[in-house]
Amino acid sequence: MAPDAHERAFGTGTISLLRADITTLDVDAIVNAANSSLAGGGGVDGAVHRAGGAQIMRELRERYDGCPTGSAVITGAGSMSARHVIHAVGPRWRDGRHGERDLLRSAYRTAFAIAAEHGLTTVAAPSISTGIYGFPITHAAPIAVDEARTALVAPATSLRAITFALFSSGDLAVFSEALSSL
Ligand code: ADP
Repeated sequence: MAPDAHERAFGTGTISLLRADITTLDVDAIVNAANSSLAGGGGVDGAVHRAGGAQIMRELRERYDGCPTGSAVITGAGSMSARHVIHAVGPRWRDGRHGERDLLRSAYRTAFAIAAEHGLTTVAAPSISTGIYGFPITHAAPIAVDEARTALVAPATSLRAITFALFSSGDLAVFSEALSSL
């Protein structure tokens, strides 16, 4: 069997997997795993606001009144290397029978659609919902990479590179298997 891939080309773009702190990446936009109040929190959300500074929260408060689960909004990236943050709201895992898979798919789809609407080329995303929200990563990773592929093969999209920034080698291995199986 072929070794699990860390990079695959689709259309004119590439999906890459990286073990990294997403707040350090120099890309057009990083995706934040936000919550529907957009009020900040733990995990990636806490790291994004710490690294980007207070400007991101100011902009969220000025421009948005929360964000429904399965959707996303965009702001600047404050003092991070990235140019924008796309705050995507994934679902909290209950038992898998409350539309969790569709909501996760929708969160990624909306995030990548916003990136394309803004003409962005390079985007990095974390594994949305698989931390504090408890979504099993073995179910989440195939959805994440499938939505990334869909975004990259969309006609006339500006997107050329989607990187998943995974926090642990275990998470990286699960995404790698999902990417190989696409
Ligand atoms: P959620 O509330 O949507 O589950 P979390 O932020 O709790 O979001 O976790 C999502 C995933 O992101 C988890 O796998 C977590 O380990 C990972 N993570 C946490 N901080 C970072 C970071 N700075 N960069 C990339 N991934 C991170």
